[in-house]
Amino acid sequence: MEIQMPVVIVGAGPAGLATSACLNKLSIQNIVLERDDCHSSLWRKRTYDRLKLHLGKGFCNLPHKPFSSDLPLFIPRVDFLRYLDDYVTTFKIFIRYNRFVHEASFDVNTGKWRVCVMDSVKNVGEVYVADYLVVASGESCDAYIPKITRLEKFEGEYFHCNKYQNGRPYYDKNVLVVGSGNSGMEIGYDLSTWGANTAMVIRSPVHFLIKEMVYIGMTMLKYFSVENVDKLMFFMSKLVYGDLSKYGLVRPKEGPFALKLKGGRTPTVDVGTIKQIKAGKIKVYSEISSIKNGKTIEFVDGKTGEFDVIIFATGYRTNVHKWLKDYKVLFNENGMPKAAYPNHWKGENGVYGVGFSRRGLQGINYDAQRVAKDISVTINARKIHAADDEANILLKSSY
Ligand SMILES: Cc1cc2nc3c(=O)[nH]c(=O)nc-3n(C[C@H](O)[C@H](O)[C@H](O)COP(=O)(O)OP(=O)(O)OC[C@H]3O[C@@H](n4cnc5c(N)ncnc54)[C@H](O)[C@@H]3O)c2cc1C
Repeated sequence: MEIQMPVVIVGAGPAGLATSACLNKLSIQNIVLERDDCHSSLWRKRTYDRLKLHLGKGFCNLPHKPFSSDLPLFIPRVDFLRYLDDYVTTFKIFIRYNRFVHEASFDVNTGKWRVCVMDSVKNVGEVYVADYLVVASGESCDAYIPKITRLEKFEGEYFHCNKYQNGRPYYDKNVLVVGSGNSGMEIGYDLSTWGANTAMVIRSPVHFLIKEMVYIGMTMLKYFSVENVDKLMFFMSKLVYGDLSKYGLVRPKEGPFALKLKGGRTPTVDVGTIKQIKAGKIKVYSEISSIKNGKTIEFVDGKTGEFDVIIFATGYRTNVHKWLKDYKVLFNENGMPKAAYPNHWKGENGVYGVGFSRRGLQGINYDAQRVAKDISVTINARKIHAADDEANILLKSSY
């Protein structure tokens, strides 16, 4: 069965929803294909209970719908989900669930995209044929666990943090959290408050800032240079935390926003983890060297420890290059855009990427509006072209 559709969007996360809403506002027919049985599955099924948006609400809304003034500055996960549910209804977004896109390619003969899908409920295949393909399958699509020598021999439990909900099951257990990004640091804190004997692997230099500092920094970036904002962030961070090197925590040489804008590491928002580390309630270890026997882990500095559970907060990878056959028209081998921001969202032959700028929801807002506008301009240009061709044929035939 072939289904014709002007625009096919792969993925019903915030990026897919934002793009569909922008297209609907321009009356451009589109469909969103989602492998899961719900939209925004990352937020609904693969994030922990205490999560709040790390950035202030002014930096996290999707296009055409600001957050309600009743909501707090840092929106809890559940309220964000309600906002997304409401977004789908408001903009009449058309989503087909349980549709796993396993292949998409550009047909040079027809000039259209063929998107091959498996309906995982009916277990039947479908083919969508589209003029435009929007890749919105997410930077955080597949959980990533690094290779660790003898990890498969570890006799405790280990899993990626996208399966972590809260610390209730870990009371009095020895838990090691690997990773010092926002998820790792927050899960470390959460575990310590639920009575787990918590330890963390913090390997690379990282900036720690409280939410309010990040909010001030993001607001100041509208008016001041990154350099000046970073100087202030360094100053505030030192004032609040002092020198953290004796706890194994080192700040990068480059400022937090310079790093973020380069598409590198975002500053880690401290929700109370540093206080727990300083109080000795969370231990800090260096990189894991290997799993010894049983539940013993050896670290690169030669220390060892016994753990019941390892939680990997080691990030995600995209999956674009696995299903988009012609991914090179827009993406590199790692499934990230070839072109640097702000030119990262448009490829050849009507393919677009939304949500791949490493700029979170703010980046999604930017991408979705640009993609919808570009599609609209191209459709109108094609219409004018077709009308001109028709007029020329009529003129010729009248002679
Ligand atoms: C824990 C966490 C907290 C975050 N907090 C913030 C924050 O506070 N502020 C901020 O700005 N950003 C934040 N981000 C970053 C970013 O905003 C979110 O990851 C956001 O959900 C990205 O939206 P997305 O639509 O691009 O990707 P996703 O939310 O990952 O959605 C992609 C969708 O595509 C579907 N999909 C993938 N492959 C296929 C396929 N082959 N076929 C069909 N469907 C497919 C997936 O099932 C998924 O539903 C956070 C990220 C994480 C992981």
